[in-house]
Order: sequence, then structure tokens, then C-alpha cells
Amino acid sequence: MVSSRFRNITPSSTVSLNNLFNQMKKAGEDVISFAAGEPDPTTPMDVLEYAFERAKNGGTHYTPSSGIPELRKEISLKYSKMTNSDIKQENVIITPAKFALNLAIGSVTEEGDEILIQDPSFVSYHEMIKIAGGIPRYFPSLEDGSPNIEKLQENVTSKTRMIIINSPSNPNGWVATDKQLRAIADIATDHDLYILSDEIYEKIIFEGEHISILKYPGMSERTFVVNGFSKSHAMTGWRIGYLISPSSLSGYIDSYQQHTITCASSVSQYAALRALKNEDFPKHMNLMFKERRDILYDKLSRIEQLKLTKPKGTFYMFPRILNGLTGEELSDRLLKEKKILVTPGSQFGPSGKNSIRLSFALSKEDLLRGAERIIEFFESEKVISSSF
Ligand code: PMP
Repeated sequence: MVSSRFRNITPSSTVSLNNLFNQMKKAGEDVISFAAGEPDPTTPMDVLEYAFERAKNGGTHYTPSSGIPELRKEISLKYSKMTNSDIKQENVIITPAKFALNLAIGSVTEEGDEILIQDPSFVSYHEMIKIAGGIPRYFPSLEDGSPNIEKLQENVTSKTRMIIINSPSNPNGWVATDKQLRAIADIATDHDLYILSDEIYEKIIFEGEHISILKYPGMSERTFVVNGFSKSHAMTGWRIGYLISPSSLSGYIDSYQQHTITCASSVSQYAALRALKNEDFPKHMNLMFKERRDILYDKLSRIEQLKLTKPKGTFYMFPRILNGLTGEELSDRLLKEKKILVTPGSQFGPSGKNSIRLSFALSKEDLLRGAERIIEFFESEKVISSSF
């Protein structure tokens, strides 16, 4: 009989939507997906070549559980520079980003502890907290998608253990400012909380700049940073990322990794080492996504029944539906009537009930064709509702 912890896990909707998309595509249907959670280009050639060269030369064995020292060192240097502080190599562990999130949450959560997550936020946080025996609690966002700091503060109880933040944010494209991060850091310090800062979209910013909360005084003792190569270098299939932990916890986290995945894939670690040196590729993708964001925003602005907020980062837009349809209903109908795949906003938290998430990580041609179909859908809705 399945355990209650496993039974209570809600399957990842984004993964199942992707499966559905692939099935429809395979069946020859002209379906366009705005549901992708990954960049569409292939991993850059220099990364591929370097990784395979290392593999051909014997780099196919177990590595140290925390990762190859060269990569951990490069990451500690990167974050030392970014935060203007001394981030120690010993506190960096190489692991897939999603597993890094699980490690961070699991390492400090006792049964019944509360963890605060933004409404809306990445689908998996909620389930990861439950898996660790914790209780996910949402705090609301402001109209522009940023966290409502006042409400965040009000949601802290004696059981709160951690706050998870994600800038740039999936699904609403919020990019944190210095002022917002300082306020969150102050709450964490005042209430003795951990921060989990998911920085996986660090390289995809159109307005503003990436700031890590790790840089504020005293934060290194209470902050976990998760980052990786999936979004920056189109490396989702390599399953490679990293976790920076407070030094009091990194040893325990390493032990957990030793008894679960042993170490991250050796070949992927070499690929990551090379990717860190390739700064052109993320810049190029950033420009590409910015162009697509502007096109999509421009096109969809014509739809009166959608309230758009221009995302400052990531490759997601999170419009609210103003004609009474829920996100579930709209995504269902778009798929059936227009062969358009989008993600219902409710997957990201209760406030997303009347929203959908649109990923613009698809070719410009499909983006344009897809946007036209969405416009057509709403045009015909308008005719129907005005004929009553
Ligand atoms: N965090 C966020 C906010 C994400 O959107 C994703 C991927 N969709 C991840 C973490 C996981 O990244 P990875 O696939 O590299 O494990």
C-alpha cells in the first residue's frame, strides 16, 4: 500500500501537459504549445563538444558526491563576485536544480513546519514542502506581480521555518529590486527564518538586474541559493544545477546526496564547467526572448478580455482573464477549439484561478501563428457574448 506521503503528491501539471502536447504532435496535429518550461534552442556546441571530449577521455565515472572541485570553485567565485562576499567552495554542492530545492527544504523542515511561498509560484514548491512533511502557506502578490511584503510579514507565525523566493519569477516574470529583497531579508532576520532563493532564471532579465539576496549582511547563515544551467544554457536534459547552503548545513546535505543520487552526472558536470565560461549564449537568448516577449505582448494587448503585465524576466507571461472564464476552462477550450496549449494559472496557486501562463519559449513563427489563434478565439467569444 502506498504511503500517505506519496499518495498525497499532486502530479506536475506542466509535465503532463507536455506529454499531451507530444502525443498530439505525434498524431500529426498542428498544435502550438505555449506551455514549454524550457528554452527551445539546443545546448551550445562548445558545451556539447567539451563534455563529450571529457567523456571520451574517461570522464564517465562517479565524481565526488558534492561535485567536481573545479566546478564548485567556479561557482563559489561567481557568487563571491555577485554578492561581494566570500562564498566558500565547501558550501556549494552540484546537483540538479529541482533536487537542490528538495535538499534545501528537506534539510530544515520538521513535521508541521510552515514554509511561505508566493502566490503564484513555481508548481513544485508546494509539493516539495509536503514531501518534506511541511505545510505550504501562500502569501499574496501585488498587482505588478511582486510579493506583498506587508502580507508576507503578517503570515509569519511561530511555526514558520522558511520563505521561498524566486526572482526572476516563474510564472509572473517579477524581477526583485534591492528594496524588496532588503525587506524580505529583514523579515527573515527578525523572525530567524531561512530563505530559499531560486535564481534559475538569473540570465533571463529584460528590465532591471539580477540581485541575489545572499549579498545582504548576515544572510549567508540563513540563505540557500538554487541555480543551474537549464534555463541559462538550454540544458534542461542534462539535469545539472547547484545549491549553495549555510555552512552549518552543507555537510548534512552532502550526506543526503551520498545516499540518494550519489553525485550529479559526471558528463553534465563537465558540460556545466564549460557553460560557465560561455557568456555569449545567455546574452543571445536574452535578446531573443525579449523580442518574443515584445511581439507577444503587442499582439495580445489587442484582446480586451485579457489583462496583461509585461514580464521583466523569464520567458513567461501570466495574463488574467477578464471575461469570466477560469484558467482551466480557457486552457481546455483553447486546446480543443484552437489547438493551443497553455498552462492554467491555478497550478501556480489560488490567485491564478483566472489566469493562464503563456511561455514564449517557442519559435517566432509559432509564436505569431499561436497569438493569431488566441486573438481569433477571443474575437469569436466577443461576438457570442455581444449577441446576447
Ligand atoms: N525552479 C523554477 C522556478 C523552475 O521554473 C524550474 C524548471 N521549470 C526549476 C526550478 C527546475 O529546474 P531544473 O529543470 O534545472 O531542475
